[in-house]
Amino acid sequence: MPPQTEILMELHDLTIHELHDRLKRKEVSSVEATRALLARIEAVDPKVNAYITVTPEEALAAAQDADRRIAAGDIAPLTGIPIGLKDIFVTKGIRTTCASRILGNFVPPYDGTAVARLKEAGAVIVGKLNQDEFAMGSSGESSAFGPTRNPWNLECIPGGSSSGSAAAIAARTATATLGTDTGGSIRQPASHCGCVGLRPTYGRVSRYGVIAYASSLDQVGPLTRDVTDCALMLQAVAGHDPLDSTSVDLPVPDYTKALTGDVKGLRLGLPKEYYIAGLDPDVKMALDEAIETYRGLGVEFIDISLPHTDYAVATYYLVATAEASSNLARYEGVRFGHRAEGAASLIDMFRKTRAEGFGAEVKRRIMLGTYALSSGYYDAYYLKAQKVRTLIMQDFLKAFETVDAILTPVAPTPAFRIGEKTRDPLQMYLSDIFTIPVNLAGTCAVSVPAGMSGNGLPIGLQLIGRPFGEETILRAAHAFEQATAWHQRKAQI
Ligand code: GLN
Repeated sequence: MPPQTEILMELHDLTIHELHDRLKRKEVSSVEATRALLARIEAVDPKVNAYITVTPEEALAAAQDADRRIAAGDIAPLTGIPIGLKDIFVTKGIRTTCASRILGNFVPPYDGTAVARLKEAGAVIVGKLNQDEFAMGSSGESSAFGPTRNPWNLECIPGGSSSGSAAAIAARTATATLGTDTGGSIRQPASHCGCVGLRPTYGRVSRYGVIAYASSLDQVGPLTRDVTDCALMLQAVAGHDPLDSTSVDLPVPDYTKALTGDVKGLRLGLPKEYYIAGLDPDVKMALDEAIETYRGLGVEFIDISLPHTDYAVATYYLVATAEASSNLARYEGVRFGHRAEGAASLIDMFRKTRAEGFGAEVKRRIMLGTYALSSGYYDAYYLKAQKVRTLIMQDFLKAFETVDAILTPVAPTPAFRIGEKTRDPLQMYLSDIFTIPVNLAGTCAVSVPAGMSGNGLPIGLQLIGRPFGEETILRAAHAFEQATAWHQRKAQI
């Protein structure tokens, strides 16, 4: 029997399914696993800043409940598993900030649907994770609670906006996490932190109780250590919810059953617009090697075109900011969170509250969105963007007539250095060039570890699926994972 500390040392490294097996065999209890995780957070998180709020008391109480369930023979895949939530998920009785000063003291009276489903499945919520303020960003630097750092290199960004959700996986301070993806916010940080991140099809997971950024683009999804865990997390949160009218009433398949390891004859598309000259050489090399690996597994590659790709970033920044300007109108100091002191009138109070409460990037987005929606500019910007969005959607539907899924880079470069792009919003926006079209099309995509840069930073590949084609991309991602060892690498922290 190894000394107790050694058991604790390794518990935080386990995947969901590995920990589940140990819980089931009663080799370890959920309380022990949760304590190990909490100790790890205490030791490592001061360097990473992945957490805004840690909830040890609630976590240990939930772990005790889970242990009782397990003792009674009632164990589901997530029972007793320590999970972290992006701070965009409304949690009953637990402060929910969306990484903004304006919600700095907001304690919600209810759980959102995804959170409630995780809890019903027996998951142990260990805390709320850092992110870009209101999920606006690609680096984690716009948080009012300070930037999150990349566990692979603390001088680098972890990606965003689900920065804490990805960094906590890489730092092994959560067994799995939940994030949201409006323009790439699950896939891009997953790629930069060497984890698996899935953005499900719009409507697959309920958005009830997710603080809205751009409602027609937002979607909830998991970040995990491997594809099996990703399937297990999706299983727990997917499905129709009467509380979200955009959630779709389609049966939820058994996602782990899709992980057959067999991709022979699968047709993967390579869109010429994504394999551009400016692609970072390390990213390109990882993609080329991935294509070879897949060829060896019997995958067929087909050159395709998504002709409207060039317009995706501009279209996104009109649609997303327009929706954000409307969604964020509710924060005026009356109903939620922060309220400015010493205002001379009601209007003055709104003004001061919003001036004090929102950070620079959020203000920029509100101004852009308000402009795009204003009379005289609406037709030229917002309406035009909606039309281009339809063209982008049609590009994908056409491609899926000949291919089963599409293989692309996730981000044009590996993680960049903290501060490198904060002064140039356009450069920051371009980080999402390969992820944004998926959101505009409303379909699903997964990021899987596929390589390392020369300076030791992870690189992911993206598999884009048909609407509700999660099983196919998970199967393809899993087969790749089986054939490679990238997901087993650990950040030395
Ligand atoms: N980086 C993109 C943005 O800033 C995407 C963010 C997201 O997916 N939430 O809007």
